[in-house]
Amino acid sequence: GVSAPHVFVIMGASGDLAKKKIYPAIWWLFRDKLLPENTSIVGYARSKLEVSDIREKCDKFMKVRSEDRERYEQFWSVNQYVSGTYDDPAAFDALSEAISALETEATGNRLFYLALPPSVFGDVTCGIARHCMTTNPGWSRIIVEKPFGRDAASSAQLSAHLSSLFTESQIYRIDHYLGKEMVQNLMTLRFGNVLFEPTWNRNHLACVTITFKEPFGTKGRGGYFDQFGIIRDVMQNHLLQILCLVAMEKPCSTAASDIRDEKVKVLKCTRQLGLEDVVLGQYVGDPHGDGDARQGYLDDPTVPKDSVTPTFAAAVLRIDNERWEGVPFILRCGKALNERKAEVRLQYRDVAGDIFRGQPHRNELVIRLQPGEAVYVKMMTKRPGMTFDMEETELDLTYSARYKDLKLPDAYERLLLDVFCGAQMHFVRSDELEHAWRIFTPLLHVIDEQKPKPVPYRYGSRGPAEADELSRGLGFRYTGSYSWKGDDAH
Ligand code: NAP
Ligand code: NAP
Repeated sequence: GVSAPHVFVIMGASGDLAKKKIYPAIWWLFRDKLLPENTSIVGYARSKLEVSDIREKCDKFMKVRSEDRERYEQFWSVNQYVSGTYDDPAAFDALSEAISALETEATGNRLFYLALPPSVFGDVTCGIARHCMTTNPGWSRIIVEKPFGRDAASSAQLSAHLSSLFTESQIYRIDHYLGKEMVQNLMTLRFGNVLFEPTWNRNHLACVTITFKEPFGTKGRGGYFDQFGIIRDVMQNHLLQILCLVAMEKPCSTAASDIRDEKVKVLKCTRQLGLEDVVLGQYVGDPHGDGDARQGYLDDPTVPKDSVTPTFAAAVLRIDNERWEGVPFILRCGKALNERKAEVRLQYRDVAGDIFRGQPHRNELVIRLQPGEAVYVKMMTKRPGMTFDMEETELDLTYSARYKDLKLPDAYERLLLDVFCGAQMHFVRSDELEHAWRIFTPLLHVIDEQKPKPVPYRYGSRGPAEADELSRGLGFRYTGSYSWKGDDAH
């Protein structure tokens, strides 16, 4: 039969996020016929634009293959653009009329993506709630992006505002890390195998490290970043979400509410952070580097000269429950480092009752989120041949080798489709957010008030040596003895 009309509305359609992420993701879903048949797209912003202007802005991010040409024309033919302000009731009425005109039936389903700065968030959500909601039996859903506040109080205020306008089941808080293949794989690895779960605890693990590294700095656009810093930008949201999926107990089912209940429980058991739990860093230029690498954070003209905003942070989180007591969770993230990488690393304890004169090195289970998705276990093996020595090697599931020509969907692509389907599993519930902020707010307030000076680290390095010291002090062991031969082997 003919499916109900769906209208996907992008608020802030003229902006950066819209052209780089949202229009491309909705186009790929349309291209692959994953959207409901009768779906239209409406862009909304103040700028006086035509669909053709939006198209021009988006073009270079859309990855249109020659065989997609016709489909691409169809995509733009189901697009509209409406110009209006963010605080005028009449403008929202006009938007709602434009949406109604696309709804070939008396009612339809409406999705609103807020690709807007937080300053207009309040007005826009009120406008939508009062003027643009669909009528029964259609549904309306709101998709929102970080920042979800700056601390516990401002986040609670935002949550209260949203819950005064919408029900929790209408709100989809995006953390795009939850749309990544390997993050979604964590549940399968843990609960779809017998192998890992029995050792996934304090009896066998020495520590867990969750790392995010970027090889570039702010590239002259640090003004926005400077108001937030790396903890708010990456650690409090993306890394903490990963921690939840690594540390939570097995949910009763794969229902979104059951999974999110378990994530909240882990957060409730996690101690609040203080300055003593972190190493903060800020990158300085490398005088021997090329181009951008010579520029330190403070050389960015959009960053205040005396800024003490951290561009690197390592923090130890403590989860006080039966599974994790005594196991440090080390979260590390930074800009202008030696490589691009996001991974989860579980380091096992030393072999007890060693009979090999100290030769065994620790096992590690590494889940490499990006780039080069992989799961590998560092382990000891007997050196092949006429010897009883041992060496480090790995059990290795490298996606590019195991799944040839694999094209993984973009995180936004998956998450937008989830919103169409009403699947909230990979979105952040308000109580998760509340507890995430509870953990980080004391630290963030001390940083805001005392302005501790971050440790300088060189652009292109692995970050401050103090961060390695922190990990070492917490029981992480690095021997430098492991070398990976994988790149030649494939
Ligand atoms: P943006 O380009 O600065 O803003 C989007 C649109 O909002 C602009 O085109 C502009 O449209 C309108 N706007 C901008 N400043 C405004 C102001 N002061 N008052 C009223 N309207 C204003 O923002 P964005 O980079 O797309 O980000 C949107 C949201 O997503 C933000 O909350 C951001 O934190 C979040 N986010 C962005 C990215 C990213 O990659 N860019 C990644 C993660 C999260 P008009 O002038 O035409 O109305
Ligand atoms: P590694 O080189 O032994 O590093 C293990 C950990 O020790 C990393 O977290 C690293 O930090 C840290 N470290 C490095 N130098 C240190 C130092 N001087 N002091 C203290 N800590 C230090 O092992 P690996 O990273 O697991 O593997 C090595 C390389 O092989 C990686 O690039 C890995 O991706 C690659 N590999 C790939 C696959 C695959 O794709 N299937 C499989 C196995 C290995 P950082 O996080 O800052 O680097």
